[in-house]
Amino acid sequence: MPRIAVIPGDGIGHEVLEQGQRVLAHLSQRDGLDLNFEHLPYGADRYLETGLSITPEEMQGLRDYDAIYLGALGDPRVKSNVHAREILLGMRFELDLYINLRPVKLLDARYCPLKDKEPEDLRFVVFRENTEGLYTGIGGQFKKGTPDEIAIEAEMNSRKGVERIIRAAFAHAKARGLKRVCMSDKSNAMRHGHELWQRVFRQVAAEYPELETKHYYVDVLTMQMVRNPEQFDVIVTNNLFGDIVTDLGAELQGGIGLAASGNLNPESGIAMFEPVHGSAPDIAGQGIANPLAAILSAGMMLSWLGHPALEQELEAAVKHCLNTDQVTRELGGELSGAQVADAVIAQL
Ligand code: ATP
Repeated sequence: MPRIAVIPGDGIGHEVLEQGQRVLAHLSQRDGLDLNFEHLPYGADRYLETGLSITPEEMQGLRDYDAIYLGALGDPRVKSNVHAREILLGMRFELDLYINLRPVKLLDARYCPLKDKEPEDLRFVVFRENTEGLYTGIGGQFKKGTPDEIAIEAEMNSRKGVERIIRAAFAHAKARGLKRVCMSDKSNAMRHGHELWQRVFRQVAAEYPELETKHYYVDVLTMQMVRNPEQFDVIVTNNLFGDIVTDLGAELQGGIGLAASGNLNPESGIAMFEPVHGSAPDIAGQGIANPLAAILSAGMMLSWLGHPALEQELEAAVKHCLNTDQVTRELGGELSGAQVADAVIAQL
């Protein structure tokens, strides 16, 4: 019986996860998957009540689940956002979820801001390194608040960290029958860390002679993603660049309400799935949040749990909703989040 930790978090995280879970429960019942959901209350409410974001024991307890399903974290009442950092970055770092897998897939051409693009033109995945780079907090401030103040944010690239994300990208391409892997860095300006990326990329690429490889500096990558997205199958890049280019990717596929992601460690078997969007306090509590990113993330989770055909079926159902205008307001529709989930379930 697969055990799934459900962490709705804050804001629209509650709304979109409720809908995602309804879809999962439907499939579980229909196909006898026997999914077992356990709700965990980590988020702003608990933090404000108790001062606790997530305890070390609770973090370790997450290792026991077959998958973690997360909504979003962030609440205007917690100005420092410390609870969100401790829970989300805590999970990524402490559970060593080094692969942030973000598919960029156009399901309906009408939602693409680029002209004359069809779904077959935009279908790639980004492998974002998720545990190092500029997000480790290494650095410091000196003479803070004075005219001489200095702030240093250090980028950390370990051989092990760079190699494992690049290997994961190549392995994914090979396993899925894809042809091309593109690595992106800024090695022309960042001569130490990104030279390591260059070297490791060449080394791993040599083990996959059947795959086509390409390298773009990240500024060029953003231009190419807009100009000629057809050229990409798999993009691998560091934590910061991956964060930025996947938001660009999300817009290309129709907006943040459609962007799904997984945070994975295939070796330890721990995985967390979440929509790319945040807690969106501006629309929280109105029932209008688009649940499709959370539903597509649930699809990725089903694949991880050994049901890749269900991920495809779920994607086809989402595509049907988009094609038939059964969408929420930000996509020009009139449905509530719950009605969109109803439409997905009806299609399943
Ligand atoms: P974070 O700082 O964690 O990224 P945020 O709330 O500032 O969080 P997002 O939630 O990612 O930013 O998105 C920005 C805006 O996009 C939101 O304020 C909201 O208006 C819109 N948005 C995000 N997600 C959705 C969604 N699922 N459905 C509809 N609109 C959304």
